[in-house]
Amino acid sequence: MKIHNFSAGPSILPESTIKNSADAVLNFAGTGLSLLEVSHRGKEFVAVMDEALALFKELLDIPAGYEVVFVGGGASTQFCMVPYNLMQKKAAYLNTGTWANKALKEAKGFGEVVEVASSKDSIYNHIPKGYEIPSDADYFHITTNNTIYGTEIKTDLDVNVPLVADMSSDIFSRPVDVSKYTLIYGGAQKNLAPAGVTFAIVKTDALGKVDRHIPTMLDYRTHIDAGSMFNTPPVFPIYSALQTLKWLKEMGGVSAMEKINIEKAAVLYDEIDRNRLFKAPVVNVEDRSLMNICFIMNDEYKELEKEFFDFASSRGMSGIKGHRSVGGFRASTYNAMPKSSIQALVDCMKEFEAKH
Ligand SMILES: *Cc1c(COP(=O)(O)O)cnc(C)c1O
Repeated sequence: MKIHNFSAGPSILPESTIKNSADAVLNFAGTGLSLLEVSHRGKEFVAVMDEALALFKELLDIPAGYEVVFVGGGASTQFCMVPYNLMQKKAAYLNTGTWANKALKEAKGFGEVVEVASSKDSIYNHIPKGYEIPSDADYFHITTNNTIYGTEIKTDLDVNVPLVADMSSDIFSRPVDVSKYTLIYGGAQKNLAPAGVTFAIVKTDALGKVDRHIPTMLDYRTHIDAGSMFNTPPVFPIYSALQTLKWLKEMGGVSAMEKINIEKAAVLYDEIDRNRLFKAPVVNVEDRSLMNICFIMNDEYKELEKEFFDFASSRGMSGIKGHRSVGGFRASTYNAMPKSSIQALVDCMKEFEAKH
């Protein structure tokens, strides 16, 4: 039976990424050695790093004045790296979910944090709008895709202060106007690579403006100056990221990917809206995530939740359980998810409806 991988993260990767990564573990770049046992400073891996950084910049059309770094520590380490490097006195945060809230809490150790708006009281079922950002904030932090709650900011905001975004779960899902951001970061394990590597896209002239001492490893300049080779980089996930970036380019890049993602998400949202057993917890259609599609049982069918989960699992649907803080279901439909898997889930929902 075909298993359809709807996991929220780590999550589905292109077949070529898995295959090429497996091959390199056995024999890396014709060296007769494994990718896992060679120096990161050897010419073969240096070539991987150079190509990955170049392709990353090319695919996101990153303008001059920005640098890309690959580091360890996950997006969660970025929650402190961002204020370490950018907050002099005050920062503004939009609280749209668990990750946004964690980022906000972490920043509180560095100065005054203003929560400009929050959807916490309504279990993060929408993206707040119409808030005001204090003009003296050093930056404004957003989480573009709320992986757990299935909401997404799908446009690049125009704001009055430097914009910082956690794009862990929607990077490379659409074109991004990088010039509108001062910093974009994310863990790679949702849409790019296996866990272990974190990316940051940094506007270089925003650095060096805070008075505090920044520990070497937490200073973006360390990694920019060393080409992400200050210490041993996570070689395996970087190799895999390169394979995904090559696949993305072959697929037509982020514009083509956005078109496919819109089509894919529509198939599932249309079924959620049509099917009398299910509904979407996200209240505004424009806030619906294209990457993490949440759905719950309609009130009168609540007791069928476990039965649907078992039914869907028996049909090969893997990873569709909603996050423990929300319940219900979540189908993550990252770039590598084929339309056929989404159709298989929709067929499952239709069949289950017919049974009830
Ligand atoms: C998964 C996720 C994180 C946490 O990433 P780690 O790499 O595990 O620290 C942060 N933000 C968002 C939006 C996520 O989806």
